[in-house]
Amino acid sequence: MMTRKLLIAEDDPASRELLREILEAQGYQVVEAEDGQTALRRIEEESLDLVLLDIQMPKLDGLAVVRRLRQNPRLTSLPVIAVTSYAMRGDREKALDAGFDTYLTKPIDVVAMRQTVARLLSRTENPTCP
Ligand code: MN
Repeated sequence: MMTRKLLIAEDDPASRELLREILEAQGYQVVEAEDGQTALRRIEEESLDLVLLDIQMPKLDGLAVVRRLRQNPRLTSLPVIAVTSYAMRGDREKALDAGFDTYLTKPIDVVAMRQTVARLLSRTENPTCP
C-alpha cells in the first residue's frame, strides 16, 4: 500500500509538532504549512490524500482555504478536516457548510483523530465504490 501524504496547516508550532508526531506514528507522510496561503498553495500544487486545517490562521483562515479549494474540480473530494479550539464549537455548521468533511476540537483527542483520519482515508481508497 502506498504511503498516504497528509498536510497539517496550523500556525502554532507546538500544535503542528504534536499533530505531526501522532500522524507520523501512524505511518503517514506529513507535510506542513504555517499559514492559510501556504496551505492553499501546497494543496493546489501537491498530490495530497488528506488535509488538516486549523481554522484560525494568518493570511487566509481555514474557512477561506476550504472554500477556495472546493472550487477546484480536482479537489472537490479531497478529505479536509477542520481543527479548532473549543471556543469555536458553535461554528461547527459554518465549517461543514464551507466544505470541511468533519471537525475536530482542540485539545486534540488523539484516539478520535486517528479514527477520523483513517475513516476519511478509507473512503478515498477505492474511489469507484459508492
Ligand atoms: Mn491557529
